[in-house]
Amino acid sequence: MQASIGQARWRMTLDLLISEARIALPDAAGLAARMIDHLAEHDIAFEDRDGLMVAKLPFGTSSLAVEAEALKIRVEANDKGNLEMLRSVVASHVIEFAGDSAPTIVWSGHESNGGTLANFREVRLKAALTLTPHMRRLTFTGDDIARFVNDDDLHVRLYFPPEGLAKPEWPWPAPDGRILWPEPDRRPVTRYYTIRRIDLQSREIDIDFVVHDHAGPGSAFAVNAKAGAICGMAGPLGRGIRP
Ligand SMILES: Cc1cc2nc3c(=O)[nH]c(=O)nc-3n(C[C@H](O)[C@H](O)[C@H](O)COP(=O)(O)OP(=O)(O)OC[C@H]3O[C@@H](n4cnc5c(N)ncnc54)[C@H](O)[C@@H]3O)c2cc1C
Repeated sequence: MQASIGQARWRMTLDLLISEARIALPDAAGLAARMIDHLAEHDIAFEDRDGLMVAKLPFGTSSLAVEAEALKIRVEANDKGNLEMLRSVVASHVIEFAGDSAPTIVWSGHESNGGTLANFREVRLKAALTLTPHMRRLTFTGDDIARFVNDDDLHVRLYFPPEGLAKPEWPWPAPDGRILWPEPDRRPVTRYYTIRRIDLQSREIDIDFVVHDHAGPGSAFAVNAKAGAICGMAGPLGRGIRP
């Protein structure tokens, strides 16, 4: 979507991406209060700034304003992937808490990329090396991997598709902001990993996998996957490196 002149200026000065939605809800105030209480249990704290409820998350800012029978939401982030995550947190909770009233959510501003999540890349296993009896170094390769170069946020989420799928299927952003997933039998499982090395020239990403005795999907992938195996990689994620 082409940004308006106002948005373009805003982005130049603050380097922010912004998305807003005004959601019609019969009990907007009640829903906002219940949602804020619930998010506080998940370490997302809203601060009351003269009636505007603002939460700062590691990946951006979300604010809520209650109007008569409507909830106005604004999300801000410096990256499209982060903006999508914020939209998804808000939209999925609004829809959950609204129950039967099933609100329609239409976002304006910096909208979604389309069919794929902005923080997601499909990657392929290039090589695997046994470092120790319980450690395998897997080298992945893929296009457009520069977003994973980040000294603060070293983690990524890997998506392992079920075996036997002719074509892996990945989560995608719905127009209402939620992240939707393939059917259970086609749905990838996800685990967090830490980037050990990334080289943009050779397009390689190394991750060291611990091989657990009772292997789950991640550990099993590290042991069994052959060169060419396809995974998803999303991120970068993390809360910075502590001193
Ligand atoms: C931020 C973050 C970064 C991570 N980075 C890495 C990384 O770089 N490399 C890596 O190998 N893992 C990493 N992990 C752990 C990883 O996400 C998985 O939990 C791990 O690979 C096990 O996944 P699985 O599917 O094999 O096992 P699961 O299905 O999750 O568990 C199956 C069995 O594996 C064993 N197991 C799982 N996790 C552990 C553990 N931590 N210690 C001992 N036994 C365990 C247990 O026996 C468990 O019953 C990270 C986790 C986080 C949260």
